[in-house]
Amino acid sequence: MTLLQQSNTDILQTPIEFLKGVGEKRGAVLRKEFNIQNFNDLLYYFPYRHIDKSHVYHVSDIVNDGGYILLRGKIQNVRIVGQMRAQRLTAIFSDETGSIELVWFNGIRWVQDVLKSRTEFVIFGKPTLFNGRWNITHPELIDPAQQQNSPVSLRFQPLYNTSDTAKKKSLDSKAVSKLTANLLAQVKDVIPETMPREMVEELHLMSLRDALVNIHYPEDSQKLSQATLRLKFDELFFTQLKLLKLKLINNKKFQGHLFQQVGHYFNTFYKECLPFDLTNAQKRVLREIRGDVGSGRQMNRLLQGDVGSGKTIIALFSMLLAKDNGFQACLMAPTEILATQHYEKISKQLEPLGMQVEFLSGSTKTAKRRQILTDLQNGQVDILIGTHALIEDNVVFNKLGIVVIDEQHRFGVEQRAKLWRKSGSIPPHILVMTATPIPRTLAMTLYGDLDVSVIDELPAGRKPIVTQHFYEKDRLKLFGFMKKQIAEGRQVYVVYPLIQESEALDLLDLQAGYEAIERSFPPPTYSIGVVHGKMKAEEKDYIMDHFKKNHIQILLSTTVIEVGIDVPNATVMVIENAERFGLSQLHQLRGRVGRGGNQSYCILMSKYELSTEGRKRLNAMVETNDGFEIANFDLQLRGPGDLQGTRQSGMLDFKIADLTKDEKLVAYTRNFAQQILDKDPDLSLPEHKRLAETLEKLMQRDTNWSVIS
Ligand code: ADP
Ligand code: MG
Repeated sequence: MTLLQQSNTDILQTPIEFLKGVGEKRGAVLRKEFNIQNFNDLLYYFPYRHIDKSHVYHVSDIVNDGGYILLRGKIQNVRIVGQMRAQRLTAIFSDETGSIELVWFNGIRWVQDVLKSRTEFVIFGKPTLFNGRWNITHPELIDPAQQQNSPVSLRFQPLYNTSDTAKKKSLDSKAVSKLTANLLAQVKDVIPETMPREMVEELHLMSLRDALVNIHYPEDSQKLSQATLRLKFDELFFTQLKLLKLKLINNKKFQGHLFQQVGHYFNTFYKECLPFDLTNAQKRVLREIRGDVGSGRQMNRLLQGDVGSGKTIIALFSMLLAKDNGFQACLMAPTEILATQHYEKISKQLEPLGMQVEFLSGSTKTAKRRQILTDLQNGQVDILIGTHALIEDNVVFNKLGIVVIDEQHRFGVEQRAKLWRKSGSIPPHILVMTATPIPRTLAMTLYGDLDVSVIDELPAGRKPIVTQHFYEKDRLKLFGFMKKQIAEGRQVYVVYPLIQESEALDLLDLQAGYEAIERSFPPPTYSIGVVHGKMKAEEKDYIMDHFKKNHIQILLSTTVIEVGIDVPNATVMVIENAERFGLSQLHQLRGRVGRGGNQSYCILMSKYELSTEGRKRLNAMVETNDGFEIANFDLQLRGPGDLQGTRQSGMLDFKIADLTKDEKLVAYTRNFAQQILDKDPDLSLPEHKRLAETLEKLMQRDTNWSVIS
């Protein structure tokens, strides 16, 4: 096919090799290094910054921000200093507000010639502070007359990210900017609009065409910010439209089991067995869940709540609702320890109700497993609790009504999908619980197709955990403090980081720590236990069990205890080498204490020298107990791509929007998309025709993601 035969939009799909200035060789580099396959990809390969040559600054404006600036003034006192190789050319540049030094190390002869031609110059460069004085090395020298007449595109220069490989093949930022200029010259009149014109006008947005031109070659800084806004809006709005549309499709497509009544089991437990009053937040969430499961549609709900906010009891009530309506339920946890703990607690709580609760994991013995599977299949088991083992194909339920997944981020998308398919033609209700606090903007995007409930209140009477940062020199003080707490009957966790590169080293850390603690806490006065990832499940369980019964006062561990463990009598969490942990992990670990009525403490041990980021993390922990604040802080520090469980999602790969900074725009676009779908769920109104087309293209592009919901 030749270019002439292509329709307007097809031009944007033209293979990149066909662009003027590209060809086979550069084409291969563009494809490989930047994933630019066609014209459209290059069009959306945005510069990370522009050099602003549109504004002339004064010497007195210079600030230490590392930016390039344009200055206009006189160059005088041109001198060659130094000998031989150290030779350099210096000059003094001055305008009416002050002066700075200019320095050249290369091309001295040539520069000298230019400087002889006149004294008035416009210079462009990056001021740096050297020996207390501003200077610019190798400034660009521009003829003032030329600067005034230069075309717009020369005043605002785009800077593109490139790679070393690309640079070697002479594709540096400048070369890429030539290509984008060629591209825009060819396609700028055929760039299609993604939104209805009325909408663009109503929102006072720039047209997509103008935005794409100005994002590369802005006419001025105002146009640049308008272009940025328009493109961010596009990205966020269509993401939200897609997510909300998926949610609509799911709700329609998947009929759900109807839990019509709140019956004997739910009511009896509520009235007679519940050892405390539910918090208002817990009550609200329960109402939301009851609304879902009573609607006839499948529930897909994410329950977020900080560590210790009481999510398990919500899971329990949801499963009782299933029982009341003749269905089975299952609860899945990411680790054996956590699943066991759930099993022990829940089976005990449900004892008075005479329900059959079973536990299944990889280590369940064959005979027992066979028994459970039979009972499960003929419907005798009411609630099955366990690990990944629950999603194996030979686990067949009689009538599975609801699946609760605790600490969801440990479960891959695949595994969730497997569960979805477990109950015949009507999929079970899904309740996903997570304590990894996710900032609102992120949740909206990552789980935008799930309904979200939040427990934003801790049970009454909890004392805030006191967090302190100690250095090695404070170790004696730490041990003294531990002794005091143990003397009062409390228990202590000491956690060592797991560095995946070398398990042997990790265990060495743990071993050394054990010996140090044993010296200061000698048996039989004290009893110390150790758990780590390399131990067999039974061994771990044995130790955990002793810890729960307070036969062990100090539990040393690698991060296996991170999630969910509930021992209310433990009041001290010591985290060794705390600087090596991520923020959300630190917060999770801290959540292991402060679960009973006693004042609890989290001690962060670190070496004295810390990276700036490491110190910021530890300070954040000392300053706040609030998981959402921590999550927001984490997001600022690391950016969304690095947050736990989100790395592979691809859903956060925005080209221009930034979830850490565009919080308001995320909320706005979500709202806006919702309003449109409320009015016109199928996008069939004529004024939404263009939206429907854009959305359709997007949905085709990422087919893989509708699988999970
Ligand atoms: P998480 O949300 O971290 O999973 P859990 O469900 O393990 O928290 O609850 C933490 C502790 O708080 C448990 O010991 C639980 O029994 C207790 N708890 C839960 N809800 C309440 C409440 N409303 N009042 C008092 N204690 C509660
Ligand atoms: Mg929990």
